[in-house]
Amino acid sequence: MFCKLFGHKYEISRSVTYYVKEYKCCKCNKQLTTNSKGYLVDLTPKYKEINSILSKMHNKKQARLRREELLIAYKMTS
Ligand SMILES: [Zn+2]
Repeated sequence: MFCKLFGHKYEISRSVTYYVKEYKCCKCNKQLTTNSKGYLVDLTPKYKEINSILSKMHNKKQARLRREELLIAYKMTS
């Protein structure tokens, strides 16, 4: 009811990647997410699934980048 009058009040509920985030309205708990084109869409079960895959890929990539950084740092010091 409140949201119908004043609009939703979204807060970031989860960062999936740098670009993709999940949002939740703190008044009515409606959830949104950023899709691959950068638009905000309803967080449907389909998008939840996509986001969890994205999140796994993102974490893997971050771990790989960290390893590469360590390797470069190691080469520079030896
Ligand atoms: Zn709302």
